[in-house]
Amino acid sequence: MSENKIILVTGGSGLVGKAIQTVLEDEKKSDETWIFVNSKDANLCDLEETKKLFEKHKPTHVIHLAAMVGGLFHNMNHNLDFLRNNLQMNSNVLDVSYATGVKKVVSCLSTCIFPDKTTCPIDETMIHNGPPHPSNFGYSYAKRMIDIMNKAYHEQHGCLYTSVVPCNVFGPHDNYNLESSHVIPGLIRRLHDVTEAGGKTFTVLGTGKPLRQFIYSLDLAKLFLWVLREYNEIEPIILSVDEAAEVSIRQLTEELAKAFDFKGEIVFDTTKADGQYKKTASNAKLRKYLPDFEFTPFPVAVKESVDWYRANYQNARN
Ligand code: NAP
Ligand code: GDP
Repeated sequence: MSENKIILVTGGSGLVGKAIQTVLEDEKKSDETWIFVNSKDANLCDLEETKKLFEKHKPTHVIHLAAMVGGLFHNMNHNLDFLRNNLQMNSNVLDVSYATGVKKVVSCLSTCIFPDKTTCPIDETMIHNGPPHPSNFGYSYAKRMIDIMNKAYHEQHGCLYTSVVPCNVFGPHDNYNLESSHVIPGLIRRLHDVTEAGGKTFTVLGTGKPLRQFIYSLDLAKLFLWVLREYNEIEPIILSVDEAAEVSIRQLTEELAKAFDFKGEIVFDTTKADGQYKKTASNAKLRKYLPDFEFTPFPVAVKESVDWYRANYQNARN
């Protein structure tokens, strides 16, 4: 008989945490108890609060999603906060996991922490090969340290602490705040405001030329369940759509305009930053494990995300 798993999901109220909750509605297993927590349950920057949270729930497994997260412009203005908050949270979660005998921890890196000056596609072996893009060095170094801690915990204590590396995530329950959001929720919010006001101009920040890989949060959530249940390497694994699915910000805006049935003008504000031009990630390792995994087609995922926001904007994280 398999042992009952108690799985604590930190950051359980966020974009990815909500998507895991949704996917579990169909994919829950009888030997798993899932607990989703957010900053109201415990501030994970605080060691004592972290200890109390773990004492209360006694998890055997942890999916560590909690983080200070934000888009390009939020990162550019808050590198110190991204560095300190994320270093503290990650260190507290891993240290308390070890102290309380947690069997497996899956933490979250990001493709935006990869080296700035690099060859593409980028793979899991290249995470530490040079400085990150200067726009988000705080977030990047804090996230890179998770991988270092995972290796050190494994080497010294034999722990199974691993990490996943998603590309840019989008979907229902995203952060739509214009100051701090990533590009897709930011543009959904802006286009929603424009169409509601009967406006004719949709303004996008930057040149529209940068390239990005975007993963639908519900696809990522399915992959998280697989990692928790099946993936037992310490080394990180990139969870991204294929390289061929990379799109420019301009293509993204056209897809969003379609989803909103917006027929006005799309204007690029080239006085605003572009960030890293591209950071194409290879999902070859993922494909080796799961050759047949099917990602939701981008236009379908964009349409579902737009429809969710239009139906829920009054209660969304604006
Ligand atoms: P999100 O929607 O911003 O949610 C962040 C979560 O972290 C929320 O549940 C929040 O709780 C919690 N949190 C923040 N500060 C906390 C603190 N001090 N103590 C306890 N909990 C705290 O983030 P997400 O987009 O789902 O991201 C999940 C993970 O994926 C993160 O590790 C992120 O770095 C990674 N990731 C995200 C993307 C992306 O494009 N979004 C891409 C690659 C990797 P409250 O709701 O209470 O504030
Ligand atoms: P990144 O993928 O880590 O760089 O983060 P973002 O999700 O913030 O995407 C940034 C890219 O989208 C840059 O090329 C920006 O110039 C572009 N962009 C266009 N409009 C917006 C917007 O309203 N918000 C954000 N965050 N980025 C935008």
